[in-house]
Amino acid sequence: MGAGLSRKAVQIENWATDTLLRANLIAACPEHGYMRLRFNHAAIDYAHALAEHAPFPGMTAGQSRDAVDKALDRLSDDCPACD
Ligand SMILES: [Zn+2]
Repeated sequence: MGAGLSRKAVQIENWATDTLLRANLIAACPEHGYMRLRFNHAAIDYAHALAEHAPFPGMTAGQSRDAVDKALDRLSDDCPACD
């Protein structure tokens, strides 16, 4: 987490990460625990549906969906500690 993130931004980030996990779109590296993307187009649709049906408190369905996409953009398919 960057030092510039507000408390709410961190909460949104955590919520979005949890939504991605529930959609099975990301998974933790079994050795290091870093989140990695899993390429699964059906899971992207599912993550959007989860975000829209259970949005972050105080955000609209569209804003929640955008938050999920932003969290997704920050992740890669490689664990930064694996090599
Ligand atoms: Zn790793």
